[in-house]
Amino acid sequence: MLLIGSHVGFTKDEELLGSVKEALSYGENTFMFYTGAPQNTLRREINNNLTEEALKLMEENNIDKTKVIVHAPYIINLANTEKYDFAVSFLKNECKRVEALGMKYLVLHPGSHVGLGKEVGIKNIINGLNEVLVDTNITILLETMAGKGTELGITISEIKEIIEGINYQNIGVCLDTCHLNDSGVDIKDFDKYLEDFDKEIGIKYIKCIHVNDSKNELNSHKDRHENIGFGTIGFDNLINVIYNDKLKDIPKILETPYVNKIPPYKYEIDMIKEKKFDKELLNKLN
Ligand code: ZN
Ligand code: FE
Ligand code: FE
Repeated sequence: MLLIGSHVGFTKDEELLGSVKEALSYGENTFMFYTGAPQNTLRREINNNLTEEALKLMEENNIDKTKVIVHAPYIINLANTEKYDFAVSFLKNECKRVEALGMKYLVLHPGSHVGLGKEVGIKNIINGLNEVLVDTNITILLETMAGKGTELGITISEIKEIIEGINYQNIGVCLDTCHLNDSGVDIKDFDKYLEDFDKEIGIKYIKCIHVNDSKNELNSHKDRHENIGFGTIGFDNLINVIYNDKLKDIPKILETPYVNKIPPYKYEIDMIKEKKFDKELLNKLN
């Protein structure tokens, strides 16, 4: 079954319940959220009543909570020493929050070495992840990055190096099609990439796919997401990823930009379900 969703909000008033309602309003059967603002680490305590109501609503709508994705704030950086201690303690706490919400997966940007060099950066990421994973059942998914600045976790070999350093089983990978394109992986040849990934790391590590088009050319190292079908990757290539036989039960999550302040997800998901590109979509929303 196609598992398709998008990034949805997590508001102060409704928390997870609001996230579920928003996902349902777009016709989604899975979704992804941050447990607070994506760009900061301020986190309120979880309201258990809202969580209970949300989980009930998910059950009624056949949304599998073990496939729902939580995303860690993107300022968390395990690779650089300066913010390392904070990153570790924040992630430990975030894992507890994810658990309290009933979820299983936490997506994390591996980090940026900010001048320390690749080797040291990767060592820091490994140490940090081991410190976090030792006392949680949450699975952390390393997101493949575009290669902006000093980002790490760009190539298969970097991801492999990190995973090989982890002493625990609860580690996985989240592919992001925009990031792959910007890092130099042609999504036209996605099957070849999957083959390589399987040989080097193992396809079973892939637990989530961020499906985004890209505003930039192959290998641009930029990371700017575009609406499905309107970027350099193109609709058909993204459809091939979404409906890839080897990734059948893996949640596909859209992180595409709002159009004129309107969330595009319902419309993009309609296109995906029909496998038919509407080149007028952006004009309609504008
Ligand atoms: Zn991400
Ligand atoms: Fe992403
Ligand atoms: Fe991105």
